[in-house]
Amino acid sequence: MTVSTTVKTYLNHINGEWVSSLNEQVEASINPANKNEIVGYIQKSIKEDLENATKAAHGAKKSWRKMGQAERGQFLFKVANILEENLNEIAETMTKEMGKTLPEAKGETARGVAILRYYAGEGMRKDGDVIPSSDKDALMFTRRTPLGVVGIITPWNFPVAIPIWKIAPALVYGNTVVFKPATEAAVTAAKVVECFDRAGLPKGVVNFVTGSGSVIGQQLIDHPLLDAITFTGSENVGKRVAKSASSRGVKFQLEMGGKNPVIVTKDADFDAAVEAVISGGFRSTGQKCTASSRVIVENQVYDSFVEKLVQETKKITVGDGLKEGIWMGPCASESQFNTVKKYIELGKEEGATLITGGETLTGEEFDKGFYITPAIFGNVQQTMKIAQEEIFGPVIALLRATNLEEAIEIANNTRYGLSASIFTSNISSLLKFIDDIDAGLVRINAESAGVELQAPFGGMKASSTGSREQGEAAKEFYTAIKTVFIKG
Ligand code: NAD
Repeated sequence: MTVSTTVKTYLNHINGEWVSSLNEQVEASINPANKNEIVGYIQKSIKEDLENATKAAHGAKKSWRKMGQAERGQFLFKVANILEENLNEIAETMTKEMGKTLPEAKGETARGVAILRYYAGEGMRKDGDVIPSSDKDALMFTRRTPLGVVGIITPWNFPVAIPIWKIAPALVYGNTVVFKPATEAAVTAAKVVECFDRAGLPKGVVNFVTGSGSVIGQQLIDHPLLDAITFTGSENVGKRVAKSASSRGVKFQLEMGGKNPVIVTKDADFDAAVEAVISGGFRSTGQKCTASSRVIVENQVYDSFVEKLVQETKKITVGDGLKEGIWMGPCASESQFNTVKKYIELGKEEGATLITGGETLTGEEFDKGFYITPAIFGNVQQTMKIAQEEIFGPVIALLRATNLEEAIEIANNTRYGLSASIFTSNISSLLKFIDDIDAGLVRINAESAGVELQAPFGGMKASSTGSREQGEAAKEFYTAIKTVFIKG
């Protein structure tokens, strides 16, 4: 590839140094709003680069573990401040690299700052419990201990928040990391790692290697020096992580796809439900694991709800997320764009009715990007692929239910169980929903996407494996418990 000298090349970060890959090859990261624009070049790393990164993380783990938790937390306060100082620039890079609108990108970066401060605070919170012993002369207590080297593999859709919600708890609880981001958003990820670097962390604590998933990702998950792996991404890759880690007894955590339902009952607040479905379904161009992709409406109110939903959806402005007044950006990459188009055609072939959207935008402004208008399919049957498979794009499937019982049955009829939401004003309906829904995130009169950073995050069924992310729950993954008994 001919490398433009006016575009920056982002390096790997290994053992405290920014270094080129040993094969010196780079890959371009493209702006999905304008495929002629290269946002940056990233390293096409090879096995030896990853080897150096894991060795560095392994070499740093003893001294990092010995440092007190409070001191480790202080580093995270510094990282938070640096990220905050660079919020606008990092958010702009994110918009250019994966297409979400600038306000969304700023919101995500601010969330990254808040996550860092949360885990910085963890440095000063308890790391065990005293447990009464039946021996009155003994002291019995638990202590948390780090795991060692954690491999971190992330997707492109939240290129600041997801890496931070893995790196920050890993570090404060005493682990070192090797982080491989998704290629589609690796420039943004490199800028996040720069914030960690500038905070003066000891060498080898945070290592960063870019490269293809099938080469570097696979080598990372198979690496014998890893003590744990945390992965967020697709179910297919998640299965590979599970296979590799479980065969070697390595602790792992997987956050994967969703096909998240929203139930709208006959007594729902329609305005609130419409707003939540639009936001949950189309924000970030529908590229959220918690996106609302199935909307199940009670028969009596189906037509009037759909009319309102379609009316509001048609108002969505699509375009370059850097521009003011744009509500929805492009698909994040050509392959995402093609996947969404494929599902739009599939939905029609399956017999669903495309009520609005699903069009490729054309014209001078749009031809250079991956733009699709937000799509709503009516007349969707549970068994259709558009009602079963994760599309990861701006496509909503509408399904009818005769009553709440049936709506919950439809909602549960997928392999996923990440997030689920209901709009109702009836207390017994919402209590039934809380009891019967198969989802890790249960949302009442609120959109399916969006969980506060201090609460456990994760799903059921094919959506997640292992302990929860976020908040205090993250401690379960990043530490092991020692039960200590001292005989007096
Ligand atoms: P992906 O699985 O294609 O890629 C995720 C990461 O895995 C990337 O860094 C990629 O390079 C790497 N990878 C690819 N092949 C690999 C291999 N063989 N070995 C190791 N690593 C490999 O997913 P994506 O397209 O980046 O992201 C979209 C998916 O992520 C969707 O399914 C979405 O639902 C899911 N997601 C889930 C959550 C959650 O918290 N549940 C959050 C965001 C995204």
